[in-house]
Amino acid sequence: MRPAVFLDRDGVLNTVIYRDGRPASPRGLEEFVLEPGAPEALARLRDAGWLLFVVTNQPDISRGLLQPSILAAMHRELARCLPLDEILACPHDDADGCTCRKPRPGMLLDLARRWRVSLDRSFMIGDQDRDMQCGRAAGCATIQLARPYNTGQGADHRVACLDAAVTLVLGAEFSDPRRTQLHGDRVHGPLAAGD
Ligand SMILES: [Mg+2]
Ligand SMILES: [Zn+2]
Repeated sequence: MRPAVFLDRDGVLNTVIYRDGRPASPRGLEEFVLEPGAPEALARLRDAGWLLFVVTNQPDISRGLLQPSILAAMHRELARCLPLDEILACPHDDADGCTCRKPRPGMLLDLARRWRVSLDRSFMIGDQDRDMQCGRAAGCATIQLARPYNTGQGADHRVACLDAAVTLVLGAEFSDPRRTQLHGDRVHGPLAAGD
């Protein structure tokens, strides 16, 4: 059993875009822009041995506003640029009544079962309150990127940026004796600096 970091996509890994003044998902590749610093931030987690998953709601598929082939192309680009183990997207809308649309935890539970993830040692990082509710429902610790459009409700931690979230996760790793033991030969940096 290994711990994982589950990452929301829009507003976390790719730059948030606004439609009618609200944060929205890209509908074309020209709107899909990787967040600066995301490759380096995720590389720090990968180097420390964390499994990395993307879990994203994409209801524009169900609404007929996003072509599945465009979404697939976005995710090929994401997988090319970032050290990810798997990307899951929920294509449904509320009316579909699925178990995977966040805040429901279906995508996390599915990944946990297939990759043997210990959810109680894992993290969910996102920008929306529903990401926090989802992570909590799955039994993970939750970290929210503080934005004008979110409230911190359901978040265990609130930070300014993805890099700060990664630093929090790595701090938790080093504070967990089981994990420090498991990855004893990889302990460096923070411990050497006296943390
Ligand atoms: Mg988001
Ligand atoms: Zn779904």
